[in-house]
Amino acid sequence: MAEQIEIGKSGLIVNPIGLGTNAVGGHNLYPDLNEETGKELVRTALDHGINFLDTAFIYGPERSEELIGEVIKERGSRDSVVIATKGAHKFVDGEVEFDNSPAFLKDAVESSLKRLQTDYIDLFYIHFPDEHTPKDEAVGALKELKDQGKIKSIGVSNFSIEQLKEANKDGYVDVLQAEYNLFKREAEKDLLPYTAENNISFVPYFPLASGLLGGKYTKDTKFNDIRAKIPLFQGEAFIRNLEKVDQVREIANAKNAEVAHVVLAWYLTWDAIDTIIPGAKKPEQVINNLKTLNVELTKEEIDKIDSIFKD
Ligand code: NAP
Repeated sequence: MAEQIEIGKSGLIVNPIGLGTNAVGGHNLYPDLNEETGKELVRTALDHGINFLDTAFIYGPERSEELIGEVIKERGSRDSVVIATKGAHKFVDGEVEFDNSPAFLKDAVESSLKRLQTDYIDLFYIHFPDEHTPKDEAVGALKELKDQGKIKSIGVSNFSIEQLKEANKDGYVDVLQAEYNLFKREAEKDLLPYTAENNISFVPYFPLASGLLGGKYTKDTKFNDIRAKIPLFQGEAFIRNLEKVDQVREIANAKNAEVAHVVLAWYLTWDAIDTIIPGAKKPEQVINNLKTLNVELTKEEIDKIDSIFKD
């Protein structure tokens, strides 16, 4: 597998294996996170050739961007890193709301630039759609920021197919980030075909289904974080899901690979998918995920994995 690839038409050149950083300072998602470990995840990624970091205002909130900014500053090598971040969340009387208005997005980019201690963001996503702003107007605001050099490319996330089409009326959308993994395949219906046809790169989030597709859990594994509430991790469904993971393990074993690598390599066989952003909580996981680049799947293996998770 190629070790450098362009993300769609964005002009951004990255290792196909990036790093999702919601566990870097994401205290609001995972309790007891150690910030020094979070910074170590980022350092490890950069030391081993992973140059694409995916963060957001809401991870922390703010801390993920700040910690990434600190690591990049300490290394003094901003240009070799491709930073994606996201905005849309705001707190109103302690409650989260989404805002895609041009004024809000412009402010959000300025605030992210400060936290990241940089003067440009490689990829800025509208993190979630709001209810009011026409999507082409929201993207139009990002196009202005792109023309000013503050952002290098434009993304949207968690948009429905209708919202994506509206957002892309002028052809400005470079990247869609949406939930997609072997357990959650709704995107295959319309988002993956639309992105492939319109030269928009599709970045799947939760590629390892929050660790379930990492192949390390057993029926006795307990979760004390956000996963305790996710249906995939509950009761009978959890047991059935682990059985599916075991079927992937057979394929992985025969290739001298691990479940996580086979799963990540499977996504990269889609036309619209150029890069994957698995998260990690330990530096070893960051290094381990790079082994995906050594996995080549045959047509039979691709189809077999597809069929295991089809229902
Ligand atoms: P994920 O990538 O599906 O799962 C990551 C988890 O899998 C790790 O924290 C680790 O958990 C386990 N893992 C990682 N590498 C492994 C390996 N080699 N072998 C076995 N297990 C491994 O979930 P995620 O991190 O939540 O999502 C990825 C990224 O997508 C996020 O960091 C974020 O950047 C982005 N995201 C975006 C949105 C959005 O709305 N746009 C939403 C969610 C996430 P354990 O150590 O606990 O097993």
